[in-house]
Amino acid sequence: MSDKIEIPMPTSASSAPLIDPFAREISYLRVSVTDRCDFRCVYCMAEDMTFLPKADVLTLEELARLCNAFVDMGVRKLRLTGGEPLVRRNIMWLIRELGKRLNGGGLDELTLTTNGSQLAKYADQLFAAGVRRVNVSIDTLDPDRFRAITRWGRLEQVMSGLEAADRAGLAVKINAVALKGVNEDELADMLQWCGDRGYDMTVIEVMPMGDIGGENRVDQYLPLSMVRSKLAERFTLTDIPYMTGGPARYMRVEETDGRLGFITPLTHNFCESCNRVRLTCTGTLYMCLGQDDAADLRAPLRASETNLPLADAIREAISRKPKGHDFIIDRRRPRAPVARHMSVTGG
Ligand code: SAM
Ligand code: SF4
Repeated sequence: MSDKIEIPMPTSASSAPLIDPFAREISYLRVSVTDRCDFRCVYCMAEDMTFLPKADVLTLEELARLCNAFVDMGVRKLRLTGGEPLVRRNIMWLIRELGKRLNGGGLDELTLTTNGSQLAKYADQLFAAGVRRVNVSIDTLDPDRFRAITRWGRLEQVMSGLEAADRAGLAVKINAVALKGVNEDELADMLQWCGDRGYDMTVIEVMPMGDIGGENRVDQYLPLSMVRSKLAERFTLTDIPYMTGGPARYMRVEETDGRLGFITPLTHNFCESCNRVRLTCTGTLYMCLGQDDAADLRAPLRASETNLPLADAIREAISRKPKGHDFIIDRRRPRAPVARHMSVTGG
């Protein structure tokens, strides 16, 4: 007789790690808490953008429950984004709730990507809730250009936000989208400015997401290989093996001792190490930034007070995570290959 004991496997483990079909462990969730924004950046939205009906948007309590379920299943990093996350009413409630999972509660990091317009108001509260780093998107340091790119934004307001972030003790990384003929002549000065202020900087290639009205992405597209050559005329850039599981590759800027990241989804494939999924404010989970396949988590969330149907739906979704994306910017295919806007999944 064997003394081996058969232990029944739980049919719906809500706490086992999330592993996709390509053996990638999903440990990073990006959550777009709203698709609304107080800016209208030319590469992101049309000026007369139509937003999701408010009735479809999850409550903050529902978003907290969803995020907590992911943390229970092994997600260790949460990034709130949007639209502009800090324009959602009562957003600090959600951030404080999620902050409770830091320091031994399963979460290693809670962070935000923001346009900075509301940072002056929120920087201290963010720090108090456990946020230690924020990504702030600024594509230019020229106030007139800033207005032209964001349509509705004021650089001065964002600068006050950055000062508040510095005072509060938040580390800042600047995200800049490289735009042909718009800010390409300024990226070296911005890199120096970031170095002077102790900020890392990430340059992002324009991604073909969503209809942006009259603007044409082929005209906006600037390959980062060109940006790198230009920056290398002024700075010594040394590749470093700093990996986040995301689409950025990093360099050390020897002159400033800062870090420079390049996000190049169009010219380089970063998918094999992808550890992330993206949740929209309506509870739709996108397993890949560059694909339209998605899973509805709102129905299972609302179907039960326990998280079991939700956990099953999350696992089923992760089992469909594709190997990679196929973004393309092509003059012969002027329509955006991914129909949704970046503000839906938050980049
Ligand atoms: N509103 C916040 C902000 O601007 O940081 C968070 C959301 S925004 C969609 C996140 C990032 O995506 C920003 O750095 C923005 O510049 C970038 N972004 C938006 N649309 C993009 C596009 N089509 N291609 C590349 N980056 C884009
Ligand atoms: Fe708003 Fe960010 Fe999109 Fe600009 S990039 S319109 S700030 S969501």
